[in-house]
Amino acid sequence: MELELLPLGLSQQDNQPIIIAGPCSAETEEQVMTTARQLADKGCKNFRAGVWKPRTKPGCFEGNGEKALPWLKRVKDETGMLVSTEVATPEHVELALKYGIDFFWIGARTTANPFAMQALADALADAKDCAVLVKNPVNPDLELWIGALQRLNQAGIKRLGAIHRGFSTYEQKLYRNLPMWQIPIELQRRIPSLPIIGDPSHIGGRRELIAPLCQQGLDLGFDGLIVESHCKPDEAWSDAAQQVTPELLDYILSLLVVRDKKTTREELSRLRSLIDEMDNNLIDLLAKRFQLCRKIGKFKKAHNMTVLQSTRYNEMMEKCSAQGSLCGIDPVFSKHLFELIHEESVRQQLNIINQ
Ligand code: PEP
Ligand code: MN
Repeated sequence: MELELLPLGLSQQDNQPIIIAGPCSAETEEQVMTTARQLADKGCKNFRAGVWKPRTKPGCFEGNGEKALPWLKRVKDETGMLVSTEVATPEHVELALKYGIDFFWIGARTTANPFAMQALADALADAKDCAVLVKNPVNPDLELWIGALQRLNQAGIKRLGAIHRGFSTYEQKLYRNLPMWQIPIELQRRIPSLPIIGDPSHIGGRRELIAPLCQQGLDLGFDGLIVESHCKPDEAWSDAAQQVTPELLDYILSLLVVRDKKTTREELSRLRSLIDEMDNNLIDLLAKRFQLCRKIGKFKKAHNMTVLQSTRYNEMMEKCSAQGSLCGIDPVFSKHLFELIHEESVRQQLNIINQ
C-alpha cells in the first residue's frame, strides 16, 4: 500500500536537515526551561522531551506524566520552538493535545505492538494536522515498521516520518542499538517520499558516537536528526551517557557535511554507470555459473552421485575467502556471498536430479 503523505511541517532552515533536540526526559521545570532556552539560543526550532518514559525495568524514573506538559507549553510560549513528546496510549494523546503539544513520536517498544499502534492511530485521528514520527520497532522487522506507518496513514495521518533509532541485541557491542543501516535504506527505497530522521543518541548510547552517527545518517540522505540534549547531561535522570549539552550539540552540528541529495554531478553519473555495467557483468557471470552447475547436476545424476560433497564445499569456501582477502575483500563478506551462491547452486542441482 502506498502511503499518502504531506510535508512534516516542522521548522527547518533551507537545504538543512530538520533538527529536533531536547532532553531524554522532562525532569523538572527548571531543567526543561534551561535546556530549552540554551537550545533556542543556538537556533534550535524543534524541541523534544519525554513525559512518559518506557523503562526496561520497574523502579526507574518513568517520567513526570501530565505534570510536565505545562512545562512544554511554556517552552513553546517563551521560545517559539515546536514541542514534542512520546505517546504510547490514547490517554497520552488526549493529554498531550490538551496542552498544545505540536508533534509526537512513537517509541520503539510501541511500534513493535500492533494492538498499541492501532489504538494510537485511532486516537491520533483527532489530531490529523500534527506530525507523527514513528521509531523503528526494537526488533529488525521492516514490515512491522511499515505496518505501524500504514495504520496511522489509514487513520488519516499524513504528516508522517520515520525515526531510525537502531535495533536491540543481546550481545555486548559498540552501539547500544545496532544501526543495521540496510533496514532504513530499504525503507527509503520502498517509500521514497517518507522523511527519515536519524536518532544517533539511542543508536550510540554514548556521547562520543553522536557526531559520527549524525554524519552517517546525513550521508545516507536522511532528512533530519533527533538528538538528546540536556543542560547537565551527567545528572540526567535517564540516558545520561548519551546526552550532550546544547553547546556541544551546536558544535557537532556545525561540523556536519550536508550532502546534496538532488543534483547528480557528472563524475558521480560516470561512476554510477561503471557500477551498473559491473552489476550487469556480475549477473551475467552468475547466470553462466548456474548453467555450469546444472551441467554438473546432470553429470551427477547420470553417475548416481550425491549433490553435496563436503570436502569440495570446504575447499571452495576456503579458496574464495583467501582470494577475497588478497583483493582487499572482507573474508566474512566473501564467506556470506559464496554460501549464498553455493546454496542456490545446490538448489538448482537438486532440481535436475529430481527431474
Ligand atoms: C526516547 O526517545 O527517549 C526513547 C525512549 O526512545 P526509544 O523508543 O528509541 O527507546
Ligand atoms: Mn532517551
